[in-house]
Amino acid sequence: MILKALRHWRDERAARRHAIPDALWQLTLLRYPFLARRSEADLAELRRLCSLFLSSKEFHGVDGFEVTDEVAVAVAAQACLPVLRLGLSWYDGFVGIVMHEGEVVAQRSYQDEDGIVHEYDEELAGEAMEGGPLMLSWNAIAVSNDPAQFGVDEVFNVVIHEFAHVIDMRDGLADGVPPLRDAEERERWITVIDAAWEQFCARVDAGEQTLIDPYGAEAVEEFFAVAAEAFFVAPAAMRAEEPAMYELLAEFFRQNPAG
Ligand SMILES: [Zn+2]
Repeated sequence: MILKALRHWRDERAARRHAIPDALWQLTLLRYPFLARRSEADLAELRRLCSLFLSSKEFHGVDGFEVTDEVAVAVAAQACLPVLRLGLSWYDGFVGIVMHEGEVVAQRSYQDEDGIVHEYDEELAGEAMEGGPLMLSWNAIAVSNDPAQFGVDEVFNVVIHEFAHVIDMRDGLADGVPPLRDAEERERWITVIDAAWEQFCARVDAGEQTLIDPYGAEAVEEFFAVAAEAFFVAPAAMRAEEPAMYELLAEFFRQNPAG
């Protein structure tokens, strides 16, 4: 109990020390309408989590990119939304957030049939690795899409995408199955997501327009990440298009953003 009280006190002190100024908070809500649509109670909790997030994570700008308060709060606010009810401990596995202004360049290698290792660069909007750090492109964050805001058809939100991977990988595996309470829940999760993914892939293959980013057809863990983007950014449309996935995510995140 004393430990709990101590942690609470430490959290409150960190939250106060990293309190987000009103003007900056209002600007962030203006930029991300899917945040602004939340209830006052949700926003108060989100703002508190953001302060704790900022006090526990370290931002690094690459190649002279300056991580201003505006940049850090934009990342924190979107990153904290998925764990609004779950708590920040889901992000305990890493500390560093590496920010690039442009594309994130990831070094890849593969071994060919003759055993020769080839190295190449891959350009990404962001990348989450087990044990961190997390990498994000500011340009990709800046072009994040809220269909309601921009009149586009599909959702793109790199911050929620990468943090969804962090949540998925909390059990050590990026497999579209986050840590769940027990084997039964795990089995049910796999049944629901596999069926939804199969259906989604068929729609993408048929050239249908989907609210969820068609990139989700790449792998089931990508489907989980892009579904999370749609769930938080365009919840009502997501519920209408993917009711089973919406229910699954609502239960897991303990949130019902479509109201
Ligand atoms: Zn991904």
